Amino acid sequence: MKRNYYSVSQITKYQQCGMKYYYHYVEGRPVRPISDYALHGSSIDDAANSHFDGVIENDKGHTISQFVDKAVDFHDTNVDKYELVATKDKSESRDRVSILGKTYHISYAKKFDPMITQYKVHEQHNNHKDFIGYVDLLTVDAKVVDNKVKKSMPMTQETMQNVLSRDLQLVKYADMTDMDTVGMAVVTNTKNPKAEYFEATVTKQDKVITNKLIKRVTDAIEANVFTPTDSQNWWCSAKWCDFWDTCDFGKRRK
Ligand code: SF4
Repeated sequence: MKRNYYSVSQITKYQQCGMKYYYHYVEGRPVRPISDYALHGSSIDDAANSHFDGVIENDKGHTISQFVDKAVDFHDTNVDKYELVATKDKSESRDRVSILGKTYHISYAKKFDPMITQYKVHEQHNNHKDFIGYVDLLTVDAKVVDNKVKKSMPMTQETMQNVLSRDLQLVKYADMTDMDTVGMAVVTNTKNPKAEYFEATVTKQDKVITNKLIKRVTDAIEANVFTPTDSQNWWCSAKWCDFWDTCDFGKRRK
């Protein structure tokens, strides 16, 4: 699965484990089906994009029932490609998307003044490759906003200010769009979802450090340096690593 560009997901995969990056992007080994957690997030993303596109085009977004229908349509079209982990069957998975959609709409449908959704950011990274990404939402008041359906509410507002200003994706996208405010619109993927919006200012130094970090990672990739993570880390496990069964540094170390 060699790519002729870099992306945030490649960099974060490498940061988690160099061997994970190697198996996936260099050797192209197959990965397990993605869980319904990802499906639920994508269903909400799809409905949110459609809603904010409507606001941008004719100042008319979705009603709550239109929003939920859109999210559920996406779910039903794609559910067979995902492994059900968060929910026990397709019906429960669809119900979860419905309540997540309601929660998102109540909390965020009117919160943002949208300028563009799914904005493609693209720059030359080095002589070999470009860097590409897609921003969930850019707002008229110059914010880079990411929708996140998370297993639990991350942290307090205060803690999240520090987290967001170091978030590789948000800071890189803020740099690529020349914006200084980043936000995360969170909905928890639980039976009774909660919603909370977090925001932070990104400094010039945050952007410089993030770009240095990305360069370090891509220099290592281009030098064929792929170091395994510490096998005691939680993600180096059967549950969290697709390559656990075959990796020398995973199962065989047991
Ligand atoms: S089993 Fe551990 S060391 Fe091997 S690829 Fe997975 S996370 Fe990395």
